[in-house]
Amino acid sequence: MDKHASSLHTERRQEVARILAAFAPADIAAWDQAESLPAEVTRSLAQAGLLGTFIESGHGGRNWDAVSFGLLCAEFGQTSLSLLSILTVHSMVLEALRLSGTTQQRADWLPTLTSGEKLGAFALTEPDFGSEATGIQTTLVQCDEGYRVTGRKKWISYAARADVLLVFGKLEDGSAVACLLPTDTEGLSITPMKGLLGFRAAMLGEIEMKDCVIPAANLLGGKGAGINYVAAGALDLGRLAIAFGSLGAMEACVADSVTYASKRKQFGQALAKHQLIQHMLADMITAYKAAERLCLHAAELRSAGSPMAAMETATAKYFTSTHAVTVANQAVQIHGAAGCSAGESRTERFYRDLKITEIIEGSNQMQQLMIAQNGMGEFVQSALRRKRLLAGK
Ligand SMILES: Cc1cc2nc3c(=O)[nH]c(=O)nc-3n(C[C@H](O)[C@H](O)[C@H](O)COP(=O)(O)OP(=O)(O)OC[C@H]3O[C@@H](n4cnc5c(N)ncnc54)[C@H](O)[C@@H]3O)c2cc1C
Repeated sequence: MDKHASSLHTERRQEVARILAAFAPADIAAWDQAESLPAEVTRSLAQAGLLGTFIESGHGGRNWDAVSFGLLCAEFGQTSLSLLSILTVHSMVLEALRLSGTTQQRADWLPTLTSGEKLGAFALTEPDFGSEATGIQTTLVQCDEGYRVTGRKKWISYAARADVLLVFGKLEDGSAVACLLPTDTEGLSITPMKGLLGFRAAMLGEIEMKDCVIPAANLLGGKGAGINYVAAGALDLGRLAIAFGSLGAMEACVADSVTYASKRKQFGQALAKHQLIQHMLADMITAYKAAERLCLHAAELRSAGSPMAAMETATAKYFTSTHAVTVANQAVQIHGAAGCSAGESRTERFYRDLKITEIIEGSNQMQQLMIAQNGMGEFVQSALRRKRLLAGK
């Protein structure tokens, strides 16, 4: 990917790659088997300054632009998508504070979150409401101390490790709100969720909140802004993270397949010499290159503050995650039995993990709806432009 990136981006990517190279492949596989990420892993990421890179330096961040953040995510994805998951959800809480927090809230929360002293998680999904986020039933009732939060959240990444949850719910008048809920609040309980297909070390949890009291100062973004502004802004960043993360995992699948196909011999020659294997490799390389361009384009638009950035991010997330699943499938095929065993290759883990990227941060059907709705307007405009061009106007 580096050939398209500026030298600053390359330098940053190298810094991240070197830090993540400290995690041994056997340890990464062991996180997956244990369905847990050791606390020292998140501590080391925090110490390396990787958990709040895009936040301004005044709040402990590093002012990294969206391309640098994307490349960071690609390195995480190439290492482990469970590891990417902590970066994603923690960054989504930071992004919500960056976009929707008051000056006081940013000063109160951002430094401890960017330093990794506290870890954040994003709690939107409920047992009965996933894609239809506006249906959520968690309630916030005003009380003398602030608000009482009651409800259930499910499939929450790193719930089992987070110090603070960004929880979405509704006020008594039905308006959607977001709030910061420390996980040591009385009335809150978290049940770890095990046995997942992928993202197994992402320490998912189901959360029950019974009259959890938070101060009014923990409400983020104001009345009515919960889903359409706070969650939407955080999910936009989450999608960029998943797009680049799947791209990183896709790169690993292609590289591993090329290496394996070059070494493994069947019928007297390396697999890579067989044309049917070359066919698969050609498709994998092409998908990777196209996804890379879409991801970088989306990040560049985001860095430039373009209004098209969110739409292009949805496109990049949709395309990259969909093709990454196909590429991982082909990688397993090229590895044969060795692609089916965690002891033999990491391909089987990428195959399982990448399927999840089609579901999270807005499922790919939700991305398709968004792309179609926005894209139709774009193409009506371009048809009109073409008509004018042909008419010589
Ligand atoms: C590993 C993992 C980690 C997660 N982490 C988090 C987290 O940290 N925080 C959080 O809040 N949530 C998290 N989730 C939940 C995730 O965001 C939801 O799974 C996702 O939003 C989809 O919701 P759902 O599973 O309820 O599916 P549903 O909404 O029930 O949808 C089921 C299927 O129907 C499709 N569908 C739904 N509506 C339509 C429609 N109108 N048109 C066409 N197709 C439709 C969907 O695309 C999907 O394929 C996580 C999930 C997983 C698996």
